[in-house]
Amino acid sequence: MSSLFPTYARYPITLVKGKGSRLWDDQGKEYLDFMGGLAVTGLGHAPDEVKDAIVAQLGELWHMSNLFSNPNQEKAAKLLVDNSGADAVFFCNSGAEANEAAIKLARRYHQKVLGNGRYEVITFNQSFHGRTIATLTATGQDKVKEGFLPLPEGFVHVPLHDLPALEAAVNDRTAAIMLELVQAEGGVIVVDPGFLRGVRELCDRHGLLLILDEIQTGMGRTGKLFAHQHYGVEPDIFTLAKGIGSGFPVGAMLGKAKLVPAFVAGAHASTFGGTPIAMAAVAATIETMLKLDAPGRAAEAGEYLMGKLEEALGGLPNVTEIRGKGLLVGIQCTGPVADLVAELHRRGLLVVTAGPTVIRLLPSLLVTHEDIDQAVSLIAAVLTEQAAAKTVTP
Ligand SMILES: *Cc1c(COP(=O)(O)O)cnc(C)c1O
Repeated sequence: MSSLFPTYARYPITLVKGKGSRLWDDQGKEYLDFMGGLAVTGLGHAPDEVKDAIVAQLGELWHMSNLFSNPNQEKAAKLLVDNSGADAVFFCNSGAEANEAAIKLARRYHQKVLGNGRYEVITFNQSFHGRTIATLTATGQDKVKEGFLPLPEGFVHVPLHDLPALEAAVNDRTAAIMLELVQAEGGVIVVDPGFLRGVRELCDRHGLLLILDEIQTGMGRTGKLFAHQHYGVEPDIFTLAKGIGSGFPVGAMLGKAKLVPAFVAGAHASTFGGTPIAMAAVAATIETMLKLDAPGRAAEAGEYLMGKLEEALGGLPNVTEIRGKGLLVGIQCTGPVADLVAELHRRGLLVVTAGPTVIRLLPSLLVTHEDIDQAVSLIAAVLTEQAAAKTVTP
């Protein structure tokens, strides 16, 4: 009998060790990891550079208050700013908190800097922005909201890729438009470049802030350090978490210089935000990603993976589409995939779903072609067997 709240539908596997793209369970069974702790372990499990940085910091200082200057935080922030179009960073501990900070910054910028009282944030159907009360309200999926009424005011949802609907939702309360560039939890839906350019134009025309939730797409996952670098569109604010600390829990909210006066002393805070150990993990993660060109490798590996999947699954009647960007890949199936995922786990390949009918692949950014070949052949075997079973049972 577990002493935990049963908030997770847990797979029947107990993982005890990880290195690179491999994980081992308590029975000694080895797994090839194509879910990466849900887009967290971008450099694979326990990367030496990040481990060494954390261990070194453990011998110096674990924690002090954010009321003192923090050189590790300055260093990690500078790495992020130097490698993006952002000018300032706020560190917190999770993705939901990073999005909370983004929503708060957008409201405060309008209310305290511009003095126009705006507060509404427009988000998109099928989006996922987190589980706090504000971020589950921002999320465009009803399932995360059930039983949590009343929800806070100030969030509006419109269909993705519908610019007229978006424009119609803008009014004199609108402060910001927030979106993911690949709706990941929502089924691996890649945002169209023309649509994003339209959103940016709309923001500029109406004085709105563009917030990009790069919590899953950031840190090299899509083949660039940040997904918006594919699009040539600059956000006013963007958020990171998941891959930023290689598994050490960290979130970050980044913004343009014009927003700095909105977050003055006392406007926002987090006790654990940006501790010396967390920041050592972030700096080592970014430096290692840059040194190894992890985003470039993800782009190359992603193309190889998509090609292999097309080749192996293209003709199957139970697969309708293979889509994604870099190493955030979805296999759209015709029916529920939970049993397929469980079978892949039994055969030693860890993958995850993205909604009921999509198998999602999130391997290490440093995954090898051999590992991709092995994963694709396991996926192809399971899907081929399912297709064959379906044709014999009428
Ligand atoms: C995972 C995720 C979040 C929430 O992050 P947590 O660290 O679980 O709070 C928010 N947005 C996106 C796009 C995510 O993938």
